[in-house]
Amino acid sequence: MPAPTRRELLLSGAAAAGAAWAACRGEPAPKPMKPDPKRMPVLFVGHGSPMNAIEDNAWSRGFAALGASLPRPRAVLAVSAHWYVDGTLLTANPRPRTIHDFGGFPDELFAVEYPAPGLPDLAAAVQKLLGSAEVANDWGLDHGSWSVLRKMYPEASVPVVQLSIDRRLSARQHFELARSLRDMRDDGVLILGSGNVTHNLRDALGRMQGGDPTTPDWAARFDRMVAAALPQHDRERLLGALDTPDGRLAHPSPDHWWPLLYAAACADERDAVAFPIEGFDLGSLSMRAVLFGG
Ligand code: ZN
Repeated sequence: MPAPTRRELLLSGAAAAGAAWAACRGEPAPKPMKPDPKRMPVLFVGHGSPMNAIEDNAWSRGFAALGASLPRPRAVLAVSAHWYVDGTLLTANPRPRTIHDFGGFPDELFAVEYPAPGLPDLAAAVQKLLGSAEVANDWGLDHGSWSVLRKMYPEASVPVVQLSIDRRLSARQHFELARSLRDMRDDGVLILGSGNVTHNLRDALGRMQGGDPTTPDWAARFDRMVAAALPQHDRERLLGALDTPDGRLAHPSPDHWWPLLYAAACADERDAVAFPIEGFDLGSLSMRAVLFGG
């Protein structure tokens, strides 16, 4: 028998997690789900520090393993925490520029270019699905997208379209908008949300400066709550997550949370949920990645 591939291992891990969860709740174990080979999974990645784009570390190796193990997409539709604006906008240029939207990092990081092509046809299809999105060709790929994609697809040959996050929308409005995109999965498109499950930058940088790598209770609890809600496809818990004391600490601003809602909205009960990357960086920054329907 051939050795299992990483993808098969991920899937068996997800099935085992589902069975363990059901056993805890006294329910019959769910049948292991076979993924539809034509339907792309949905991915959420905790991008963390921009340095993950150029460092060889546990997180960047995790991004690379995802690229190697997932079915190769026709294109990526990326929803990054760092395009957080008034409006739902789309990149549609055939050559999106690499945006270095950060400060205080080494020149080596500013020199990175990620020359993945755009895909105007996909942008047009997404625009049609959403009804109201506008094309914004002054944007390109921000580091929420390219710091992860550079490790997943280092040859930059998979086309990428970015979708902005409208900061005026409620959690439910984000979820409903994202749901209209889920059929793109049947068209070979990898929907990629890029944010972080917990993101309190003031806390994380304070720990970094103080040399304190411990994870505070609120971050551990919020991360655990999310990890429990996702396999149950517990939409209401996710929609209300920021209206809790832990949620307010985990996300003083919701920009890094919304990409997870976009990914979750494109999944349904048929999708097994796996966590191919877990752990905290800088004490309180959850690096959890979520794979729906791998
Ligand atoms: Zn970020």
